[in-house]
Order: sequence, then structure tokens, then C-alpha cells
Amino acid sequence: MASEIRKSICWGCWMQCGALAHVNQGKVVKLTGDPEFYTKGFFCDRGARFAEHLYHPDRLNYPLKRKGERGESKWERISWDQALEEVTAKLSELKGRYGAETLATTCGTGRGHQETFKERFLHLFGSPNHANAGQFCRIETREIDYAIYGADIVAMKPKVAESEGCIVIWAHNPKESVPVEYHEYRNLKKKGGVKFIVIDPKRTEIVDELADIWLPIRPATDAALALGWLNIIINEELHDKEFVEKWCFGFDQLKKRVQEYPPEEVSKITWVPKEKIIESARMFAKAKPYTNIPWGVKTDMQGRNVTSIIHAIAILRAMTGSINVSGGSPLSGPCLKANGGPDFNSIDLLSPEQRAKQLGIDRHKFWTFPGYDLISQAMRPYWSGKMCSSYMPGCHIPDVWRAILDQDPYPIKALIVGGNNPLMAFANTPQVYRALKSSNLEFFAVVEQWMTPSAVLADYVLPATNWLEMPLLHFGTYTGAQDFVAAAEQVVPPLFERRPDYYFWQGLGMRLGQEKYWRQSLEKEWEWCIKPLLDELNMESFEEFAQRQQFWFPPFEEKYHEKIEPNIGRPKGFGTPTGKIEFYSTILDKLGYDPLPHYKEPLETPVSQPELSKEYPLILITGSRFRPFHHSEHRQLPSARKLYPDPTVEIHPDTAREMGIEEGEWTMIETTWGKIKQRARFSTRIDPRMVDAQHSWWFPEEIPDDPILYRAFESNTNMLTTDRDEYCDPPTGAMRLSPYLCRVYPAKKYY
Ligand code: SF4
Repeated sequence: MASEIRKSICWGCWMQCGALAHVNQGKVVKLTGDPEFYTKGFFCDRGARFAEHLYHPDRLNYPLKRKGERGESKWERISWDQALEEVTAKLSELKGRYGAETLATTCGTGRGHQETFKERFLHLFGSPNHANAGQFCRIETREIDYAIYGADIVAMKPKVAESEGCIVIWAHNPKESVPVEYHEYRNLKKKGGVKFIVIDPKRTEIVDELADIWLPIRPATDAALALGWLNIIINEELHDKEFVEKWCFGFDQLKKRVQEYPPEEVSKITWVPKEKIIESARMFAKAKPYTNIPWGVKTDMQGRNVTSIIHAIAILRAMTGSINVSGGSPLSGPCLKANGGPDFNSIDLLSPEQRAKQLGIDRHKFWTFPGYDLISQAMRPYWSGKMCSSYMPGCHIPDVWRAILDQDPYPIKALIVGGNNPLMAFANTPQVYRALKSSNLEFFAVVEQWMTPSAVLADYVLPATNWLEMPLLHFGTYTGAQDFVAAAEQVVPPLFERRPDYYFWQGLGMRLGQEKYWRQSLEKEWEWCIKPLLDELNMESFEEFAQRQQFWFPPFEEKYHEKIEPNIGRPKGFGTPTGKIEFYSTILDKLGYDPLPHYKEPLETPVSQPELSKEYPLILITGSRFRPFHHSEHRQLPSARKLYPDPTVEIHPDTAREMGIEEGEWTMIETTWGKIKQRARFSTRIDPRMVDAQHSWWFPEEIPDDPILYRAFESNTNMLTTDRDEYCDPPTGAMRLSPYLCRVYPAKKYY
């Protein structure tokens, strides 16, 4: 019997490629790219594995309640009704005893806009404590861009430079992380004309395939490099003077600041030859206005300097006048045709008293409510009252573990985790483990697709669908930050008793007095979300949009900021407090942080701690993406494990020889914070002074019971990291996941 084809949208990463599900007798047998979708038929090997994911025998299929001690892996199957009733009762009791702030939630990349339902529930419950991985991945970039531009850069560009211009791939390897973007760059490279600069400590494959210039940077010195580029561009007057004068705020202060970063000094800091720094800065600036620096995750996970790196990169885009230029760096605000942001997540309903209790609000003011409030005050009037507030403001993640263990500043007694594996995702795994195991934590639930090391420690585990089993809506990226809408109906009904995350949050909300804020089904929620667009298109329902149109982009408006705003009779400008792009950030200034980007040598580097580096002579990089895995996901899939049966640490053969390590051998990787083991993988792509250890490894084929937890502590790079405040970025609290000083040696000697 011939296959039937049903359309969907992949959620294997946040790029949302159009998918065709080939369905035979009700079963998804194959997934391919949809040529009619805006991703033009592209589909990667991660997305293609979701049929295997859908039917895997280890997927969670029924709600589970703990029977034995936490971590004993003894479970009782219960009904969804029983689970929701019992969770409701427990949350009510704890709220009565400790206040609503006693509940915290966590999330990772999550499962699309469903994350916003979690926020809605939490805000209506009365807690400000959403600990989300956006604090060191993507969302703090978005928040800084909001402060500087009053908008976000468009990660999925409506049009990239076709035949000229310069794209800087900074701290980013799209071939492994977001292949659809890489695919686009490959096509541009083939056409010729566009220059590529790759900034990466490693000579990755994209260096060979794309780079006109490669800057092999010392890890975590990106802010210095960006400031060095600005020094050259400003002093050589290569910037777009007219744009900067008219549309940017704080040029004179910036000019003074960048004098501290001459190329020879920056070369010493970054280990990049001075000539290359100068040549690349000129190449970038001379391509104006067709320049783009897409987001790269590694800028976000360096701890100290994160705000400065992102701020400096934002300034670089503006210096070339590329902002809102097609083929340059288009900006986008919240989707104006959707009910997103505060309308969706009810953040405005959280009382001032509860907002003030947000964990981390005293130290990381930019990431928490004070920063959000200043950004929101500037942006909302600009974007017709709309604002994207998904994932922001967040609480400071390490403070959740402290509030569980030390009950300071108040006790966190309840934790709900969804779309996240905290033992793998967050710095300082031993501390996360202590918190999840603590008897202070009176309630712990996980909504998941699989049993994970973190879920083993829970009281309740609720089974979640994957993207093929539910109706999908995207308005912008999953963070809702960009202006487009895409939708798809479910390909197959949820298998067994799996449910979309929505079902859990709505079920709790309905039982806890939040009835008027929830609709009766996920389809109805999506319909409400895109009601403004449906009205404009004369469509009745979410289903009609998904069937007839599937996606919608607003027309791209060149130089949007120059458009005359009828209400004020002058150009729109930008959604910031000054109405300009803020080189000098008035928001950072108001919050008591440096309003200009700077570089401060991080702790634990060969420069800041030369004595320590004699004992730990190598620089450890972690967090590099490797397909088809996505963070800690997909370790269960046999086809993926065939490619990577074991975790590997990439090491230069010369370094390995010096350390007495053989190819493929198990090695210990040790920092001052802990040690793990991974297999040595020889590569001349890595600098002999560095090693690159794969992140988020656990072994679903192993024993789940605590303390083994699928060998969660054995090869997990977050055993090597710390979440101490002096390692975090002060404004955002971004944790340092990479780099660290380390030593590597054969495991057999000591293990
Ligand atoms: S890049 Fe791959 S995993 Fe990501 S959305 Fe596209 S097909 Fe899915």
C-alpha cells in the first residue's frame, strides 16, 4: 500500500524545517524535507531520526508515581487524572506553607511554544522562579540585543547577501548544530561573491569549506577580539558614518573605550596574529552594508564577559550600517499578528511582591525582572504594545539549588522539570544532584519523553509527546522573537498515554483556579494565538491555516527604522530608551553595570592563573555540537549510537603522545572541579594546547538506579564545571560551561 504524506514541522532543533511524514497504515515510516516549506526541502539526519524516536520501545508511555525511595527506580503506573489530582494537592499544600515562590520550574531547549504554557502556569500560580537554560544559551543574547537594538537579530534571515557581503561565523558550527543554516551558506559559497570569516579555536570542517579567513581564537577571549575589530574599524574610519551618526547612541564613549584594545594588545590576549585581526576587520567593514554575524552558542556559555561579547557583536553589525538591510542584518520584534509574550504567559499578572522575590534579582539584575522591566518599557510602545517575554526574565539557575539545600533566601520545596535534564544541562552536576536528592525538596515532577538520570530522582514522571504526535504552532523562533507564523496538525495521534506538555500545565491550571486563562485544547490555544492573523487572512481556524497556508511571513521592510511613524510624525527609530542603537547602553548603566563592552581576563586561564596552568596545562573546550545528538537527547537511538557509541575527547596527536595517550583509549579529563572519562579521538583540527570534550553524555542502556543513574556522572562535562558566582557573568548570571583548565591522562592508570 502506497504511503500517505502528511505535513509537519521538525523540532529536532530550533530551526523548524518543513517535514513530510510518510505514513503507511497509520505508521510513520520515513521523514523527508518539505520542498513547499520555506526551508525548501532541506532535512537533516537528526530530523530524519524522529520516526525511530516515535516508536522506540523505551519511550515513556504512562504516568508514573514513585513507589520506593527517590532514585530506587520503583514505579507505579497511575492515570493522568490521579497524577494531576495529586500534584495539585501537593502544590496547594506547599504554597500554603511556604508561599508560591517555593515552586521553581526548569527547562532546556524544550518542546517549542509549549514552554510558554509552563510560564503561564507558573506566573498564575504566583512564582517568579523559572530557571531556564536560556540563561546561557540564546535567550541572554536576545535580551542584550533587545537592550541595544530594541529588537532581535533575525536568525532565520528572509534573504541573505546573494552575491556580495561578508558573513562572520562566530563561535558557531552550523554544520553540526543547525544544518539548515550551513546548507544555506554552502549554496552561497558555491555561487561565490560572499566572504566568510570563521572565528573558532578549532579548524572545524566549515573552516575548510567556507572560510576566506579563519581566526583561531583563544577560548573565551571573544570580547577582546570584537573590541579589537571595533578599534580598527573606528580608527581607520571604515564604519558607516552617516548611519552611526544618525542612528547610534554613545559613539564618542565607545571610541574612547576601544583605544584600550589596539590590535597588538588584542593579538596577545586572543593568540590570533595581529595581521589576521586587521585583515579580517577590514574585510568585514568593507563589505558594508551587507554584513551579518549570526548567533553562535559559544558566545553565551563563557560566564564572565558574556554581556560584553554580545554587546560588542551587536555594535559591529551596526557599525557597518547593515541593520534592517536586506542581505545585511535584519531585525525583528515580536510577531505582530500573534497573541504572544505577556498575553500568552500572563507575566503581567505576577504581583510586584512576588516579582521582588525572584532568585538572583539582587545580583544579576539584567537577566531578572529589573532588566526585563527596563527593556519592556522601551520596547512595548515601539512594537504596538507587544513584547516577547518567553524565557525572560528568568531566575538565576544556581540559586535554585542553593534555595533547596540551604533554604536561603527562602525554601524551594517544589520543582517541576519539563524538556530538560538538569543533571546534564547545568554547571556543577554534583550540586544539582545534591539538590534533587535533598529531603528539603518535598515535591519533584518531570514531564519527559524518556526516563532520564534526572527523572529517575522524581516523585512523578509524566509522558510527553514528540512533535509528530501533536499540533504545532511557531510564531517566530520557539522563543517567539521573530515575526512569522508556521503551523501543522498532528501527524499521528499521541501513542499510548503520552500527552503534549500543554495537557499537564492546563490540567494543573484548571484545578488551581486558573480556569479563565486556559482554553479547552491545544488547537484552541493555537487558534487564539494567531487570531489576528486568521482575521486578516479570513480564516476560521488553526486547522484551516495549517492545511491551506502553513506558514506566513510579513513583507520585509527595508530600513524599517526610517519609516515615518504617523503618531509622532518622525521616523520610528529603534525600541530602546534613546530611540537609537545603544553603543552606550542606558539600560546596563541604570542597572549599575558597565554601559560599554569590555574584556576582563576570566578566572582559570593560562593568563590569569599561570601557576595553576602548570598543573592543568590544557584548555578544555566543551559544548561543541555534534550531530545527530542534540544536547543530552537521542542517546537511546541505535542508529545515532552507531555513529558515536562512546563519548570522545578530541585531542591533537602530538599532545596525546606527550600524555602517553593512544587513539581510542579511555582517558581521564580532570579540572579543579572534578574528573570524567571519555575516549581519545585524535585530530589535527584541534590546537595542541586544547582538548574538546563532548557534552551531555549519559548511557540509557545502563542501570537507572541511584547512584548509577545511567552513569550520569562518568562522562558528563558538567562534572568539570562550577556555578560559583565569580565565574558567572554579572549582568546575566550566565554560567561558565566552557572553557576550563584541565589535564588529560590515560584512564587505565588511575581508574
Ligand atoms: S536542522 Fe535538522 S533537526 Fe533542526 S529542524 Fe531542521 S531537520 Fe530538524
